[in-house]
Amino acid sequence: MPARTGEQFLRGLKDEREIWIGNEKVCDVPSHPAFAGAAKGLAAVFDLQHRHAAECLVPDPETGEPINVSHLIPRSKEDIQRRHRGLERMAEHTVGVMGRTPDYMNVTYAGFAGRSDEWGANGNEAGAERLVKYQKFLRRNDISLTHTIINPTIDKAKGDTPAPGDDVALHKVGESEHGIIVRGARILATLAPFADELAVYPAHPLVPGADAYALSFCIPMATPGLKFISRDSCAAPTQNAFDHPLSSRYDEQDAFVIFDDVEVPWDRVFIDSNVPVYNQVMSTGWFPNVMQQTMIRAQAKLEFAWGLATRMLESINALQPPNVQMLGEMWTYAEFARACIQCAEENAYEFGNGVWFPQGAPLTALRANLPAWFPRVNEIIRLLGSHNLLAAPTYAQLSDPELRPLIERYMRGAGNVSAEERARVFRLAWDFTGSALASRGEQYERFYLASGARNQQVAHRTADRARADRLVDRFLKEPVQ
Ligand SMILES: Cc1cc2nc3c(=O)[nH]c(=O)nc-3n(C[C@H](O)[C@H](O)[C@H](O)COP(=O)(O)OP(=O)(O)OC[C@H]3O[C@@H](n4cnc5c(N)ncnc54)[C@H](O)[C@@H]3O)c2cc1C
Repeated sequence: MPARTGEQFLRGLKDEREIWIGNEKVCDVPSHPAFAGAAKGLAAVFDLQHRHAAECLVPDPETGEPINVSHLIPRSKEDIQRRHRGLERMAEHTVGVMGRTPDYMNVTYAGFAGRSDEWGANGNEAGAERLVKYQKFLRRNDISLTHTIINPTIDKAKGDTPAPGDDVALHKVGESEHGIIVRGARILATLAPFADELAVYPAHPLVPGADAYALSFCIPMATPGLKFISRDSCAAPTQNAFDHPLSSRYDEQDAFVIFDDVEVPWDRVFIDSNVPVYNQVMSTGWFPNVMQQTMIRAQAKLEFAWGLATRMLESINALQPPNVQMLGEMWTYAEFARACIQCAEENAYEFGNGVWFPQGAPLTALRANLPAWFPRVNEIIRLLGSHNLLAAPTYAQLSDPELRPLIERYMRGAGNVSAEERARVFRLAWDFTGSALASRGEQYERFYLASGARNQQVAHRTADRARADRLVDRFLKEPVQ
């Protein structure tokens, strides 16, 4: 089955997966109130790829069938730019509020399969072959993947990586006739209720001897023993898009994952107790590859935020200093993001094995700053919006014949802006910055793929110092006359 429709995606979610919300084990994800809105929201993303096929679909290199462009293994700068157009189209659909639309993992696995040479090192040729085969399965069946790569925090002082004997971190406990048996837990599978399969791959490097923790595999969500504990829902009822335009559609969920003695079939095992491979495969092209997707998404969100704040001020005729200054500040974030992405794509190069990824440095710089920019953007919208964010009538209030004339008179905007138009703008702005979904979104921007503090340290450690050293050395090393 090539690129799926929304309806096909929704049908795929009906299986025996074990998703918990509160103390309830969910039987039917697409119809559950906590998940129905985002299920529909994601179905719309699947439909979108057909509506915008010229941007979102490419032929499968072997079968010729249409597949999502995020599965493309880039082999030139043109491929990177081609992929950009599709990723941007998908990011715009959710205005970047959904961080983990399936294209995120598609790009990740296209990168992994493209660099199968790295996965096949240190005697792992069979694992690499299975990975390449899996990526074909992923793209040809248009699978929605969630992933979990971080071990849970029990005792922060013990560091990020499990030492041998750690019984919490995901580890291998044995083998069966059909595969390996794994036990433990991982965080934090965003998109879990809306995924067909779960991906496990490396994050923090492991210490020598931690072989049991050096694992990578993909398994169906309904695999026995796999349990997902969802956070509290941030979703608003689906029928209420006027009041909660984002929360009613885009709560992608985040779930704690427990592997209660789960059997992973051999054909789905990509790394089995191989520390050198585990520590190697994330260290070269993974970051710049996946950053293209996440930064295109982030840029769409920043530009949306700027547009929304501008519209908010226009509706109350408040486009004067210092408000305009804050709008300008927001625009700079969106423009810096756009420029970094363009620079990284323009300077794309071959990373090995004939595979091209964007240049990492501009994306590293951008990623390191976004955990500060996004909270600031939210702060600006709340400062500019003031009480207006909370004085926006609901759809039901606007529909009430007794209230409507009063709302139209007392809650209208400046100039020709009607009460309904004003309510829509401010309700959207509150859903973007003040709702439960907005708060979760801010947490996401601060922490996904590591905190700002860690990203800034990585930025320094991976930066090319040659020019900086040359500039400094002129003063420190040249003879003083
Ligand atoms: C909403 C959300 C969705 C997520 N989705 C996924 C997902 O789909 N899949 C997945 O695998 N993971 C996911 N994650 C997990 C995410 O990858 C981790 O939360 C992230 O890596 C941060 O891990 P941590 O708790 O170890 O934080 P840390 O990086 O340890 O940060 C915790 C605090 O310590 C500070 N800190 C840490 N190290 C340093 C340092 N060296 N110097 C100074 N300060 C430091 C940070 O500033 C921060 O305040 C998600 C997280 C969130 C919040």
